[in-house]
Amino acid sequence: MKILIAVSEVVPYAKTGGLADVAGALPKEFIRLGHDVRLIMPRYAKVKQDLETVKTGLGVELAGGRVVFDLLSDNGQGFQALFVDCPKFFDRTGLYGEEGSDFPDNAARFAFFAKAVLAAVEAMDFHPDVVHCHDWQSALIPLYLKRGDYPYFGETACLFTIHNLAYMGAFSPEEALPLIGLGEGIYVPEGGIEYYDKVNYLKAGLVFADVLTTVSETYAREIQTPEFGYGLEGVLSSRSADLYGVLNGIDYELWNPATDPDIAANYSGEKPSGKALCKAALQREYGLPERDDVPLFGMVTRLADQKGLDLFEKSADGFFAKNLQFALLGTGDPKYHELFTDLAARYPEKCGVMLAYDAALAQRIYAGSDLFVMPSRYEPCGLGQLIALAYGTLPLVRATGGLADTIREGENGFVFKNYGASDFLSAVERVLAAFSDGENWQALVERAFAANYSWGRSAERYVELFAEARAKRLRG
Ligand code: ADP
Repeated sequence: MKILIAVSEVVPYAKTGGLADVAGALPKEFIRLGHDVRLIMPRYAKVKQDLETVKTGLGVELAGGRVVFDLLSDNGQGFQALFVDCPKFFDRTGLYGEEGSDFPDNAARFAFFAKAVLAAVEAMDFHPDVVHCHDWQSALIPLYLKRGDYPYFGETACLFTIHNLAYMGAFSPEEALPLIGLGEGIYVPEGGIEYYDKVNYLKAGLVFADVLTTVSETYAREIQTPEFGYGLEGVLSSRSADLYGVLNGIDYELWNPATDPDIAANYSGEKPSGKALCKAALQREYGLPERDDVPLFGMVTRLADQKGLDLFEKSADGFFAKNLQFALLGTGDPKYHELFTDLAARYPEKCGVMLAYDAALAQRIYAGSDLFVMPSRYEPCGLGQLIALAYGTLPLVRATGGLADTIREGENGFVFKNYGASDFLSAVERVLAAFSDGENWQALVERAFAANYSWGRSAERYVELFAEARAKRLRG
């Protein structure tokens, strides 16, 4: 099958979160299954690889003007990655914004991206059987495939994956409709892209793609309810026959304590002794007392409401009253920068904080911690808990979305249900009890090492769903 992946961030080129991990892993899996794959993304300032020029002087119409771009390419990752090079929109340090605010022209940037993807693919004469789109940044593509005038893509199906329903790309109709350029007819709530008086790019994906997926079975059910659906639960329920949960995997070549070059000592499930060295090194790095008799809780996260940080705040005094240590790496909402700076000052012996985005330090936390904390309010899939398992680090999670589908209390981690401080703190008590019972702890860690969330089965599932999308497209 000819597969085109259109996506806004990809490891190792540019990353803000789990979407980039997924987009970097999937093409390799599809190639392993024998498919012909191209991936296309914007060329941001962050993309440092040497890129080859494929086409110059391509252009698309945008709000009455013409925007030109070049098409670049890299083959260094085992698949062909194509880059839409349009400096006016993408040659910036941030991907979607800077210093905590979105770019003011995101509506234009990603309307342009959708059109540029289709123009580029046609110019290359790569005729995809299916386009795999991800999140709001590529969600206009299914709209163009269904409603736009693109005869070249007459038989091209579209599978749209929701990685996080909360990020929608919602813009004023005055701004967005001229950019989209398909007239006012699509601006209706039923079967269109209107959403509470805004144009909603994500909704274009939900309405017009042939098949929809999200990144865990539980999240697929949750988003059809008012609690998690953000007002889109009706649209999602109406498409429930086409909506599937396909769990994310992780790339075990990248996340491997036996070969990781950025951690203090390499180790594995068979030879775990290096993990204690990683813990001591992490304690030193965070200025925490070097103790092996207290559990070290790590957290690597975007500092966003989704991640359960208000729950952590409410539990903090109870948490730090216990015999434990905590190391955080994160960046995002300024109110959480303040919270963690304050906690580090109040509990210097127990709480270490680094407010940054740092991939190598993230690896040292996965390796050096005993536990990995994800008290998320909601979590479509979550990769942190899967990476933690690979490093023999036990996840402590709230049972929501993909966390509920991957972590089981007493088997490979610790789980609490209700979003409240008392449930969280009693889970922490269970951790402390298990940690002091060395044998039981070792058994849990061994099971964590043995967990296998590789991509194989999920990639096959995507291919089955690509075929289903294609059958639907051809039926019309
Ligand atoms: P989300 O996509 O919602 O941010 P996931 O758990 O799916 O959450 O994926 C998060 C990914 O981003 C993981 O690979 C994690 O290690 C990484 N990450 C998050 N914050 C940071 C940070 N401050 N520094 C380095 N890596 C980070």
